Amino acid sequence: MGLNIGLAGAGLLGRLTALALTRAGHEVSLFDISASLQPKPTEHRAAAWTSAGMLSPIAEMETGGEEVRRLGDRSLQLWQDIDRYLRSHTKNPLDLDAGLGLQLEDSLMVCHGSDLGSAQRVLRLLDGDESRVIKLNSGQAAALAPGLKTGLHCWRLTGEGHLYPARAMQSLGAAIPQTSWHLGQKVNGLMPHRLLLDGSEKSFDWVIDVRGIGAAGEAPVRGVRGEVIVLAAPGFKLQRAVRLLHPRWRVYIVPRPDEQLVIGATEIESEDRSPISVQSTMELLSAAFSIFPSLAEARILATDVNLRPATPDNLPWISIEEGLIRINGMFRHGWLLAPAVIEKALGDANLC
Ligand SMILES: Cc1cc2nc3c(=O)[nH]c(=O)nc-3n(C[C@H](O)[C@H](O)[C@H](O)COP(=O)(O)OP(=O)(O)OC[C@H]3O[C@@H](n4cnc5c(N)ncnc54)[C@H](O)[C@@H]3O)c2cc1C
Repeated sequence: MGLNIGLAGAGLLGRLTALALTRAGHEVSLFDISASLQPKPTEHRAAAWTSAGMLSPIAEMETGGEEVRRLGDRSLQLWQDIDRYLRSHTKNPLDLDAGLGLQLEDSLMVCHGSDLGSAQRVLRLLDGDESRVIKLNSGQAAALAPGLKTGLHCWRLTGEGHLYPARAMQSLGAAIPQTSWHLGQKVNGLMPHRLLLDGSEKSFDWVIDVRGIGAAGEAPVRGVRGEVIVLAAPGFKLQRAVRLLHPRWRVYIVPRPDEQLVIGATEIESEDRSPISVQSTMELLSAAFSIFPSLAEARILATDVNLRPATPDNLPWISIEEGLIRINGMFRHGWLLAPAVIEKALGDANLC
């Protein structure tokens, strides 16, 4: 028989956990401090809305090692099932905006000739599976990423992809059956079977804390600032994410629908949510322009800043006691790892 489950947080983990639980027959109540299902960029909103949506189990081994590759590969399988589910449960099956905007195109990693030495260090971290890091010549690289500057070193990373976070958040929000939404509701704390709200508390069979950086104090998380820039680039035909290996920056370019793309992301040890800095703007744009010179004519549509919830080792954190689950610390890997992390947490608690 289905259980009654209360979730604190309706960001990436919250929506995905709610979907997994309702698909397993449970009843879910979702509480989020945001007043709307699609909060405005000016609000303090889930990190998920700002993110680039890269699904890079190989490239992210640089920051998360073998654990990230294993969970990332599993998540890519699960995302395909979730995408099919969302598409088949939309009211209009022809709706192009349904689903996750999932693109399973291999991604590219490039570096300038002068940076090959430092790039080799990263490549050594990724060479556990050589068949997934394939060196390309300039013709092969240009075929996969039209407009790519000639003379760059380039590698194809197989089994990677990306999705469109805003679309995925909307589709997940729209597709959770048997869920009662409590928006504009701050959760002040959780105890087994109980959510503590302003002036009241609510009881459930289980409660789950997925508040991201909002759980700081109860979970071992800090915020890590990340900044992105969204460009309109008419005629720019990029289908896959491209990552620049650089001695000082980690920069990637990810295509979005409607000839847009996102350039991201800085990684700054600060919980400052103020607008993007001049230095970050210059570094992100120069990095992108240095590998795609045709972006000189692109237009800057938006910039965004948010905080990644990160643990001391920057890896996901799961804590389970009877009646209470906490999942946090998705850091720069929320989209990459969330389905597999949720599968593990709900499986260990015998909820799915
Ligand atoms: C610039 C940037 C780029 C990124 N790019 C990528 C990428 O390319 N690939 C990738 O895999 N990951 C990426 N990420 C990381 C990803 O966005 C995060 O790991 C993910 O969003 C974390 O999910 P979460 O559900 O834990 O937290 P969030 O998505 O932040 O959701 C937390 C939710 O909890 C709610 N909340 C907070 N406090 C309370 C409270 N007290 N009461 C009620 N509700 C509350 C918030 O309103 C929010 O809705 C990026 C992040 C940033 C910032």
